[in-house]
Amino acid sequence: MTGSPAAPSWLPDPQIAVAQLASGILEYAQQTASGDAFRLPYPANLQLALDRLTLLAWHQDATAPASVMELLQLAQEPFGDWKIDLTGADADPDESLLIYGRPTAACEELGSLRGDVEGEIRENALLRAVMDKARAAQAPHSYVAFRELLIRQPAIAAIELDARLADPDLALLANEVRQAYVEAPPEAMADGVIRTCRGCGGLRLPMDDDRTWFCEDETCPAPGTAGADHPASEGVWWLRRELRTFITAPGRAELRIADAIGKLGVPVALWPDFDACDISVFEERPWVADVKAWRSPVRLARRLRERLFTVPSEAERAYVVIGREQVTAHPRYVARLRKACPQVRPGQRIVAVSEAEFITAVKRRVEAEA
Ligand SMILES: [Zn+2]
Repeated sequence: MTGSPAAPSWLPDPQIAVAQLASGILEYAQQTASGDAFRLPYPANLQLALDRLTLLAWHQDATAPASVMELLQLAQEPFGDWKIDLTGADADPDESLLIYGRPTAACEELGSLRGDVEGEIRENALLRAVMDKARAAQAPHSYVAFRELLIRQPAIAAIELDARLADPDLALLANEVRQAYVEAPPEAMADGVIRTCRGCGGLRLPMDDDRTWFCEDETCPAPGTAGADHPASEGVWWLRRELRTFITAPGRAELRIADAIGKLGVPVALWPDFDACDISVFEERPWVADVKAWRSPVRLARRLRERLFTVPSEAERAYVVIGREQVTAHPRYVARLRKACPQVRPGQRIVAVSEAEFITAVKRRVEAEA
């Protein structure tokens, strides 16, 4: 496909091949994590991805993986090291699909062709149920309490979860909260202890040597810092993987931004009106923001070109805010995003900015009005 105007019609689109591989890996990870011994056949998407990548490799005179097993090994390598040219696949050379045998954030973004919270909330049955129930009970605080719990405590001791559910805001959603968590997996346990990460509140998992521990959240602000240890016998819950990806990781930036703005002494609301946007600041002529935690500016741009959020008519300004983690990991993230998505350039109704720029803008308005 690369640069060749006369690509034969049978030649697969690298973007679709990679998306299919990523989806297949996510399905495969789901099956192996469910605790049942894995049985053949592999998920259909893995086989289809193998077929497509084989065709691409032939066309490029590159070596194709000989089997799904080899394909899964290849998925551990950064795309830049692949012998197959994947130009057009929206993947960065330094990204891989698997790390330590687990799907990466890039894999989630590529495989589900979504990666943002709104999309997931609309499509995820549990999150829809939470939204419907809180709305029916006219309990926006319950909705906010649910989101905050998932962000602050992706891992939680059984006894502590029971205590949290006594909170009236959360009690309304007790069934849904319980469905959001699964038992910590056996591989998280060593010496009868389950260890947590202070950086993100998730689990730290043992490496093969059982002596080193790693945080499996790629966007953890302090990966591997020791948090509380829980005796495995007392029971520890872990947030389901898709919720960790779509709620916890982007949510840390949302809470941090809301905290910073709250300190300026202006009204700030998280997920107001049942998630009309992520953050709303000021009561008069409000500013609204959607916080995005996509790893890749190119993939986020594609998403924003397809669908931008609806700005409430009373909002004075609207922003897409890129979290600190993403801006740090990707120099020129905001510039690349604006280049690939003209709809969020300065002068448009919605403008893409970094977390720091957003807070600075709020600070200026506060100072101007003081
Ligand atoms: Zn962590």
